[in-house]
Amino acid sequence: MRIDVVTLFPQMISDALSHSILKRAQDSGIVSIQAINLRDYTTDRHHTTDDTPCGGGGGMIMKPEPIARAVESLRRDAEPCRVILTDPQGVLFTQQKARELAQEAHLIFLCGHYEGVDERVRELLVTDEISIGDYVLTGGELPALVMIDAITRLLPGVLGNAAGAERDTFSEGLLEYPQYTRPRVFMGREVPPILFSGHHALIERWRRWHQLTRTRDRRPDLWKAYTLTESDRKLLESGEPTLPEP
Ligand code: SAM
Repeated sequence: MRIDVVTLFPQMISDALSHSILKRAQDSGIVSIQAINLRDYTTDRHHTTDDTPCGGGGGMIMKPEPIARAVESLRRDAEPCRVILTDPQGVLFTQQKARELAQEAHLIFLCGHYEGVDERVRELLVTDEISIGDYVLTGGELPALVMIDAITRLLPGVLGNAAGAERDTFSEGLLEYPQYTRPRVFMGREVPPILFSGHHALIERWRRWHQLTRTRDRRPDLWKAYTLTESDRKLLESGEPTLPEP
């Protein structure tokens, strides 16, 4: 997969992507991520990328021409490409959207700044407008990084344990079950003994029961959208799975 990020602050992108799993994914050639400096696509000697709003008002608006030139030069002929505007007015980014975008061969992220981009950028250049939440940030770099992280970890070969991503929170429309590691007792709290039972089917039932009850109790919105299977319903009715009496 190829990901281009058009930004006024390329260093913010390259610094954040040079660690841990995202760095390894690039080093191993699974994904190629480039930060593109929007100022390289200006034509005046001041490298101007913004101007005052038509009609008056405060703040500055990002000009359409440098963005159009950047997108044009990054698009490869005949290759389908999604051009994503980071935007608090866009559709909400979700795990489902991450999965959808992880299927693409080429993504271009546009990072806005100031009061945002000229409306014609949305109308003429962009295929998707995506928000990472109902709050306003100073720029699109952090939203682009959030999305790139969520997308990249879904690409085949990026996570050591592929099963990890399948069982993650949101993947099935449910929250993940509680996870523990050693020590067995920490500050008086013990790891549920069922997890040391070696009884894999029972552990699976225990995990599923917690996924279901956690989602029901913490996220009524997800719970409402989730379709219970017959075995989920029976599991909920039978209560939390426990170890059989010795
Ligand atoms: N004036 C704009 C509005 O009210 O819709 C907000 C502009 S914001 C200060 C500057 C840029 O940050 C946006 O163009 C966008 O690229 C990015 N941004 C801010 N909040 C965001 C969010 N929640 N999701 C995605 N991008 C965001």
